[in-house]
Amino acid sequence: MTKENSVHSKHKTMSTPNETMSTPAAAKHDGSFPALPEESAIPSKIDRRSFIMRNAVIGAAAVMTGCVWTPEARAQQAEKEAAARSPLPPLDSTSMSQDLDVVKRSNGPVMTVIEEFYKVGPGPSSSHTIGPMRITYDFYQRCTKLPAEQLAQATGLKVHLFGSLSATGKGHGTERASLAGLLGKEPATVDPLFLDEMKAKPDQSYSLKLGDKTFTLSLADIIYDTSKGDFPHPNTMICKLIGGDKSVYELEYYSPGGGFYEWKGYTPPKKGQPKYPYGTMKELRQHAEKNNLSIAQVILANEIAVSGKTEEQINAFLDKIANAMLATVKAGLAVKESVLPGPIELQSKAATVWQRAQDDKYEADRAVALLSACALAASEENARGHLVITAPTGGSAGVMPAIVYGLTQTKRALPQEKVRQGLLGGAAIGYLCKHNATLSGAEGGCQSEIGVASAMSAAFIASAMDASPLVTENAAESALEHHLGMTCDPVAGYVQVPCIERCAFGAVKAWTAYMIATNEIASRHRVDLDTTIKTLADTGKDMSTKYKETSEAGLAANLVLC
Ligand code: SF4
Repeated sequence: MTKENSVHSKHKTMSTPNETMSTPAAAKHDGSFPALPEESAIPSKIDRRSFIMRNAVIGAAAVMTGCVWTPEARAQQAEKEAAARSPLPPLDSTSMSQDLDVVKRSNGPVMTVIEEFYKVGPGPSSSHTIGPMRITYDFYQRCTKLPAEQLAQATGLKVHLFGSLSATGKGHGTERASLAGLLGKEPATVDPLFLDEMKAKPDQSYSLKLGDKTFTLSLADIIYDTSKGDFPHPNTMICKLIGGDKSVYELEYYSPGGGFYEWKGYTPPKKGQPKYPYGTMKELRQHAEKNNLSIAQVILANEIAVSGKTEEQINAFLDKIANAMLATVKAGLAVKESVLPGPIELQSKAATVWQRAQDDKYEADRAVALLSACALAASEENARGHLVITAPTGGSAGVMPAIVYGLTQTKRALPQEKVRQGLLGGAAIGYLCKHNATLSGAEGGCQSEIGVASAMSAAFIASAMDASPLVTENAAESALEHHLGMTCDPVAGYVQVPCIERCAFGAVKAWTAYMIATNEIASRHRVDLDTTIKTLADTGKDMSTKYKETSEAGLAANLVLC
C-alpha cells in the first residue's frame, strides 16, 4: 500500500464531528488557532487550496465559538465542505477546447505508424527541408506517371513557397531540398554532398528527364512567394508543371512538421484498425494496465495491426532508425571545431564539450556534458544540412539521438531490444502530441518541437529501462511541462540559435524528468500528460504568429549579427 492509500484508510476510520467536538486533545496548536493540516493529510481528490481554507475557517470558528474539534474531525468536515464548494476538475482531464483545429482533426484513434513518424532526411528542418523535399519528390513521381500528351505540352517545372516556408525557407535551405526532390532525389538516401554542392554552386543547372522530355532546372525555379496570406497551413507550397505561362499540372501541398506532408484533397491511406485504439494517454495507459503490457508492447501490437507489417519488419526499421541516430552523433562528434553554414558564423562546439567531458578535472560535470555533447553533435549535423532523423522534427533532431547514445555507448550498454522498446515508447508520446496538439514550430512554437522531443526522450528512457506505464507517462509529462510556452525564433531563419543548444537542454531535461518520475510515488504525480498536451495545444493557439518560426520576434529580432 502506498502512503497515499494509508492516508485514505485513516480517513475512513475517522469519527464524526459530533462524536468528537468535545475532545480537547489536539484542539489548539499554539494556544490561539488550530494548526493547518499536514500536506500528507490533504485528501487527494479535493482541491488543495479549498481544503486548507475550509479547514482554517472551521478551526477559527471553533476558537471563536468555543467548540473543540480533533484534527481528524476538522479535516473530515473540511473535506466535505471543500468538495461541495469547489469540486476539483478530474486530474486526468482530457477534454480539449472544441474550437481548436487540433481537436477537430483529432477525432478517432491514433493511426500514425512508426515509418511515417521517424524519418531520415536532410536537415535542418523537418517542415522546411525534409517535408518540402518529400513533397517535390512526390510531385516528381506523379509527373513521371503523366500521359505523354500532357508531358508534351510542358516546358518546365516551378515550385512556389508560401507562408513560413517563404519567410524562413532561405535559412533552412528549403530551395535546395525542394529542387533536389524535384530532380528525383529521395530524402532518405540523398547524398548530403549533392546538397552541399548545390549550396556551393547556386547557379548550376540540372537536367531532369520525364518521359521523352528533358527539362533544365535550377534554384531559380524554386520561388519564394508571398509570406503573408490566408493559407490552409503556414507551410504551404504549390508545385507546377508549366507549359509557357500556363499550368499543365499543379498540386498544392502542406508540410505540417515532422516530415509529414499532405496535399489539397488528401485522404489518408487505408490502414488496419489498431488492436488497442486510443486517442489519449489515459486510454493508452488503460490498455497497458488492463492487459499487463508495457506502453511499448501496446504500440508494437498496434503497429502490426495498423501497418500490416510483421514484428520482424518493424524491428528492422527500428534498428535502422537507432543506427542512423548513433551515426549522426558520431558524425557530429568527429568534426573538430568548425563554422556552421550561414550568416551567424556559429562555431560548432560538440567536439569541444565532448573532449572536456573526458578530463577528470571536470568529472562532476561528466554525465551532463556527455549528454549535451551528443545532442549538440546531432543538432550540428542538422545545421550542416546532413542527414538527420525526425524525432519528431529536424530542429529537435539532437535530443533523442543523445539519449540513444547515452544508453547504449556508455557503461549502461543497453541491448538493441531495449532500444526498440525506447523508440516505441517515445513514438507513443510523439503520436499523442501530433494527434492532440502539433509537432510544428510554425503552428505551436518550439514547445511543439524541442518540448515534444524531450517528452518523447523521457518516455524513451523509461520504456528502455522497463518502467511502468504510469512512470513512463509521468516522465514524459514532466519533460513536456517544462517546455510549455517556448517560442520559435530562429535567428536569421537558421536552425542554429537557439535550436542547437536547445537540443542539449531538451536531452538533459528528459533525463531529469525520468529521474524525478522514478523517484516519486507515481500515483502522486499531480499533472497527467493529456492535460499537458492540451495546454501545449492551447498555448500554441494563443501564441502570436511572430513567435512561430517567422523569425520576426524574440532572439531573431533582438540579436544583432555583426
Ligand atoms: S526555435 Fe525550436 S521550433 Fe524553432 S526552428 Fe529552432 S528548434 Fe525548431
